[in-house]
Amino acid sequence: MDHKILVIGELNVDLIVSGLDTFPALGREILADGMRTVMGSSSAICAAGLARLGAPVVFVGKVGVDYYGDFVVDELRRLGVGTRQIIRDEVVRTGVTISLAYPEDRALVTYLGCIPHLRLADVKTSILSDYNHLHVGSYFLQKGLRSGLPDLFGFAHRAGMTVSLDTGWDPDETWGNSDLLALLDKVDLFFPNEDEACAIARLDDIEQAMRELAKRARLVVVKRGPAGSMALQGGQIVHCPGFRVDAVDTTGAGDSFDAGFIFAHVIQGQKLVEALRFANACGALCTTGHGGTAAQPTLRRVLDMLRSQDHSP
Ligand code: ADP
Repeated sequence: MDHKILVIGELNVDLIVSGLDTFPALGREILADGMRTVMGSSSAICAAGLARLGAPVVFVGKVGVDYYGDFVVDELRRLGVGTRQIIRDEVVRTGVTISLAYPEDRALVTYLGCIPHLRLADVKTSILSDYNHLHVGSYFLQKGLRSGLPDLFGFAHRAGMTVSLDTGWDPDETWGNSDLLALLDKVDLFFPNEDEACAIARLDDIEQAMRELAKRARLVVVKRGPAGSMALQGGQIVHCPGFRVDAVDTTGAGDSFDAGFIFAHVIQGQKLVEALRFANACGALCTTGHGGTAAQPTLRRVLDMLRSQDHSP
């Protein structure tokens, strides 16, 4: 495969505690039935999804010189992602999210650690010309990199790369300012979900929000959970329904969708509707296992699903 992908983003570990009878309270102790340590981080899950599909992918990010840093780097390597550009910070520790999983939802506690400490100066821009596409995730968490992204995307375009961005959720819920909108001018593929698209465009109606965002980003692709996805092309909204699966954990569905869309559209040159369908299959299959990467599909698995399952109505 001659297309090479570079993912620049955050790295952290998720400690998922499950089987809790009640909520924790100060001064009390509650017991959990289950505990798993998995690689978290939206950008890293997207990189793993691309590697699983067979794309050559290298990651640039920062972790501490600590146990969790080793864990994340080993996981990425095991999943087939190139790790030689990962920076180890001697001072700051690796980020961790503690997830208290209840049947109805999760309560998350995040220590950002190294995540906001990645800066443009850490990225060797001379390597950009070795790659064809740049993906950046979790814009809102990457407070150190954010101000450098317009320059980074400019360098990437000059090096002949295309660029995709997934902001993820904004924990501050301020949804950026004119800097983010100006950055979208330099984005080829923008991957918000419906809520994020409306919040960033500051509009309630998703179609209006897409039209607003498409004045800036070259292609706006919106994720809609089980309902699938949609995109705006030539002034028309294209809808692509989702696949029916027995979802057990939606962690990483959006990142696996991004990986699928980049693979289908950027690497394989598939047309918009086919690429949306391919990405929907990647997102849907990801939800059939626990954690972000466990059920990410191979190319063969996606093709089997596309052949065997009609669109749900
Ligand atoms: P995000 O995690 O960014 O909010 P979504 O939850 O919308 O993204 O999931 C991304 C994609 O994964 C969706 O567009 C859809 O194609 C697929 N997907 C997610 N949840 C399901 C589900 N329960 N059943 C089928 N497909 C799903």
